[in-house]
Parts: sequence; structure tokens; C-alpha cells
Amino acid sequence: MIIDCHGHYTTAPGALQKFRDEQIAGLKAGVDAPLFTQAKIGDDEIRESLENAQLKLQRARGTDLTIFSPRASAMAHHIGNETTSRRWTEACNDLIQRVVSLYPQNFVGVCQLPQSPAAAPVNSAAELERCVKELGFIGCNLNPDPSGGHWTSPPLTDRHWYPLYEKMVELDVPAMVHVSSSCNANFHATGAHYINADTTAFMQFLTSNLFADFPTLKFIIPHGGGAVPYHWGRYRGLAQDMKRPLLKDYVLKNVFFDTCVYHLPGIELLLKVIPADNIIFGSEMVGAVRGIDPETGQYYDDTKRYVDALGLSEAERYKIFEGNARRVFPRLDARLKTRS
Ligand SMILES: [Zn+2]
Repeated sequence: MIIDCHGHYTTAPGALQKFRDEQIAGLKAGVDAPLFTQAKIGDDEIRESLENAQLKLQRARGTDLTIFSPRASAMAHHIGNETTSRRWTEACNDLIQRVVSLYPQNFVGVCQLPQSPAAAPVNSAAELERCVKELGFIGCNLNPDPSGGHWTSPPLTDRHWYPLYEKMVELDVPAMVHVSSSCNANFHATGAHYINADTTAFMQFLTSNLFADFPTLKFIIPHGGGAVPYHWGRYRGLAQDMKRPLLKDYVLKNVFFDTCVYHLPGIELLLKVIPADNIIFGSEMVGAVRGIDPETGQYYDDTKRYVDALGLSEAERYKIFEGNARRVFPRLDARLKTRS
């Protein structure tokens, strides 16, 4: 089985964005649009939005199951206040649940959190619990920078975040570290802000005692781990200078990288420096880069091709395409066991 750990509902029916637009317009007038004002979305609209996009690509590329979450760039936790964020988050998560209920073989849900720059992370715990216990989700996307590019929150390793981690541990769900849109003109969202955040999160983990406090807490750093694998010698050297444990004995017990690197040499490097136990197949389709690479004639985000081209052993392939995802998402593993 091939599990894609990183997919977003970037093709959601227009009524979702219409609700968001009304929410944003309402903020200017001092009104927080309530959820019930969102137009009903029909099952056929949902089917149509997926059949020619994510489902078509799953079939064409030979992947089986996508771990699916709301569009990351649209989380935009910096917009409005905590209520704005909560209502928007509920609308997005509820729609993911409907996708999963229509296509339970193809998708499993991961939630957006109702983060907001001034809100304590513990306030996201209730939505996480609702999504896991009531909607059957298996993880969450955690934004380390709800300010959208201004980095006003404490590092992910600060006690500020601990109440949310306690809930993650209790529910046995991991988080993908995933920023959203950038409202800082210095940082292009997908080209700079995303990769910066991936790299930043790893360095925060390296310098902290977070995983001594939470030995079972798990994070996926997407986009191939940002700049980390390419600079692996720097991180090993910094850890050594700081008298930190070896990365393989500390950070890599809890942190995993996906394969959302959009060319073969990048994936070759990833597999060369990061143990196969820490790599989870992901494509982020339909997502950040949608075009066709003129050098290969293939979609940049068809990341399975790059992994296939590596000539991995069966054991390594199993880990990357299935085994590691089942280990990092225990609730997915439990679900798949009941399926078979
Ligand atoms: Zn993403």
C-alpha cells in the first residue's frame, strides 16, 4: 500500500472560500460571520472537486491513500481573532470529514487548528479532540507562526505549547509542522516561508529538551525537512558543539521528514543522509508546485517517481511508502488493521 502523508484540499468547492470572504468582509464591519451562514455544499460538488484532481492523480501515480488536510495557505491564522479562526477551522475540518466519508478508501483526515496570534495553544486542544474523537482524524497541522511571517510566538519547544502537546500525546496523534500564508513581504509563502519554518522547527527541536519531556510526541517536518538534509553536517556539528546528544539518538526518535522535494537529486540526497526510518512518502498534491518539469516531462510533485528511481530495497520501500506512516500515525495503523 502506498500512503501519501501530505495532501491538501486545495480544490474545495467555491462555497468554502465564499464563506471565508464574507468572514473577512465582516471583520471590517465588526461582525464575525457565524458558521451557519455558509452555503450548503452538495456531495456531488465535493466529488467533482476531487475526481479531476486528487483522485485522478492518485490513480495515475499509483498511490492508494492520502492523509488529507485543509488547504494550508488558507489557514491564515493571522486573520481576525480567535473566534474568526475557530469558525473558519471548523468549516474546513468539517469539509475534510465529508471528503473522507465519501471516499474512505482514498482519504483519511488531518485537521487544521484554530490558532490565532493572541490565543494560547491549549485553546486548540478542544478542536483537536473533536476532530480525532468525533470526526475520526489521525493528526493535525500545527502552525509554528500564527502571525503569518512575523514570528511573534515563542519557539515550538517553549512551555507555551505544552498544553497542546499533552493533548496530542493523550490522543496519540502527531503534528505536521506547517505554516500558512505569509503577510510579510520578505517571505514568499511556499518558496521561502514554508522552507524557513521547516528549517527553523528542526533547529528548535535540536536545541531543546522537548523530547525528554514528551518522549512519545511526534512531528513531521514537511517539504523534505526544509534545508536540513542538505546541511546535515552543519546540524550534526552544531549539536556536537552544544554537547547535545547525537541527532540519531535524540531528534530523529521523534521527528520525520516527508518526500515533498520536487526533483530527483533532492530525493537522492534526502535518502543518502536521513535514515529510511525517518522518511515518509508525501507529495503535497495538489499543492505548491503544479506544473510539469520540462527536463523530465513529468509533474514536479509526482514525488513517487523519484522514490521509485532510487532502487531501494523492499524493506526501505515499505518503510517510506507505508510502514513509517503507520508508525507515526498509530490511529491510521489501527484503522487499516480493522480494514484488512
Ligand atoms: Zn502542505
